[in-house]
Amino acid sequence: MAGEAEARYIKARQEALLERLNARKLDALVVTRPANVFYLTGFRGSAGIALFTARASSLLVDPRYTLQAQDQAVGVEVSEVTDGLLHAAGHSVRKARVKRPAFEDASLTVSEFQALKRAAPAALDWQPAGEAVEELRAVKDPLEVENIRQAGELTAQVFADVERTIRPGVSENDLAAEIEYRMRTRGADGAAFETIVASGPRGALPHARPTGRVLRAKELVIIDLGAILGGYASDMTRTVHLGKPSRRTVALYRAVLEAQMKGIESLKAGVQARSVDGAARHALTKRHLAKFFTHSTGHGVGIEIHERPRLAKSEKKKIPPGSVVTVEPGIYLEGLGGVRIEDTVLVSQNGAEILTPAPKSPWWVE
Ligand code: ZN
Ligand code: ZN
Repeated sequence: MAGEAEARYIKARQEALLERLNARKLDALVVTRPANVFYLTGFRGSAGIALFTARASSLLVDPRYTLQAQDQAVGVEVSEVTDGLLHAAGHSVRKARVKRPAFEDASLTVSEFQALKRAAPAALDWQPAGEAVEELRAVKDPLEVENIRQAGELTAQVFADVERTIRPGVSENDLAAEIEYRMRTRGADGAAFETIVASGPRGALPHARPTGRVLRAKELVIIDLGAILGGYASDMTRTVHLGKPSRRTVALYRAVLEAQMKGIESLKAGVQARSVDGAARHALTKRHLAKFFTHSTGHGVGIEIHERPRLAKSEKKKIPPGSVVTVEPGIYLEGLGGVRIEDTVLVSQNGAEILTPAPKSPWWVE
């Protein structure tokens, strides 16, 4: 059963959605994306469709999820269906007597939409919802912030747990497995994404999957990890050097750390996303390293690991207060490896607060 506070926040999200639909003259939304269903109802099952209208809201689930939905869902009537969720959703739209319903075009496939449409009255004026729910999700309420904060703290603790394991002789796979095992034993629902351990030259691949490669002395290791807790993700990267680093390696690490700090310092509510990217990128440009920074500076984090807003070069949108984003500049040098430093941060009117509190120094091991 959802707690009282949790129920209040979920109802507030439902009201915000209805206002948004009303402003666009939409009289219903069929919510099919699981993360959006969770956000709007509290139901965490992997299959379920929610229907929101001004008069009534419902959650359709198949018999595997009836008990769970009754236990978790807030502010919606739970119905068990046995003839297919999309078919049942079409029928619910029919019963709701709406004229201009919206569907989640960003995630529903064409054939799924056809199935939904077939079960609903033919004369309806279906509208694409765009990212209506995703836009709401960009601003976290206090309950969500608390969940991400706990996920971030757990992630930092796991990094501290495994720090002594990051030594020559251990394989990338072993280290990744140890990290995910520690997440579980510390109470996480699981890993928010496949843990990245990229050692030596493999660090030049920004999204390297861990392999059987054994870590060696005098090389850099990128470790990118994040736990899910209470349905919310966190995302953090640390780079460690095995042995005393060369002057060049020190210069590379310091440049990325400075870029990350400049990015975080520039972050506050109301700034354009691209200016944060620019602040981080500029620190690397000064050291002629910007050409090795081949991805954008960050992304929103919440129920999913990649959400709005995006902190990219061309993103003119302003960052709203209550956003949770990553700041993660990195440089990738073929043959040598890479350095990336990433934190998940909460954006407010005054600035940004780090939610993944693992130290970034010392960053090499003797
Ligand atoms: Zn990451
Ligand atoms: Zn990330």
